Amino acid sequence: LFIVFEGGDGVGKSTHARRLAEHLTALGETVVHTREPGGTDLGLEVRQIVLHHRGHVDPRAEALLYAADRAHHSATVVRPALARGEVVLQDRYIDSSVAYQGSGRDLGASEIRELSEWATGGLQPDLVLLLDVDPAEARARMTSERGELDRLESEARDFHDRVRAQFLEQAAAHPDRYLVLDATREHEVVAAEIKARVDALLGE
Ligand code: C5P
Repeated sequence: LFIVFEGGDGVGKSTHARRLAEHLTALGETVVHTREPGGTDLGLEVRQIVLHHRGHVDPRAEALLYAADRAHHSATVVRPALARGEVVLQDRYIDSSVAYQGSGRDLGASEIRELSEWATGGLQPDLVLLLDVDPAEARARMTSERGELDRLESEARDFHDRVRAQFLEQAAAHPDRYLVLDATREHEVVAAEIKARVDALLGE
C-alpha cells in the first residue's frame, strides 16, 4: 500500500504521516515513512542543493533535480518496500512537482507529470491525502508571528495560490484516489478522517 501526503508548506503532512504510521504499526503493518525530496542519502544531497539554490536555479534544472531524487527514491526505497508487502507513507510525491514546478514555476503540469512518470516508471500511489489550507490563512498565521509581509512574500502569494489550485485540480480529477482534508480544522478531527479512509482501504 502506497499512501502519499500532499499539500503546501507547513500544513502538517509529516505530523499526520507519523500519527498514521503509529496507527498502522499498532495494526501489525510494517510501515516505511519516507519523503521527497530527501528520502535517500543521494536525495538528502539533492534536497540541500534545491533548497540552497531556490530562486536562483533555472526552473527546468530545478525540475530535473526533483525528478532525479524521485527516480532514485522510487527505485531504491519505495518499490522494494512495496514488493516486501510493507506500507509506504510518503511526504510529497509527483503532485508536488506538478504543483510547484508545473504550476508554480509555470513549466506546464502535463510536462512535469510526464517527467515524473518517466522517472518513477509510472508508480502510482493507492491514496493521496491532500492537506488543504488556504495560503492566505497560512500566511495570516505567519505574519502575526513575523510582522509585515515584504515584497518577496507578496510575489510568493501568487505562487502559493497557483500551487494550491493545482493540488486541488489533481484531486478533483481523480476523486477515487484522493482525500482532500481541510487542514485548518482540529488536528484530531483531521487525523480521525485519515484513519477512517485508510482503515477502509485496508479492509478491502
Ligand atoms: O515539505 P518539505 O519541507 O520537504 O519541502 C521542502 C521545500 O521544497 C518546500 O518549501 C516546498 O515548497 C519545496 N518543494 C518544491 N517542489 C517540490 C517539492 C518541494 O518546491 N517538488
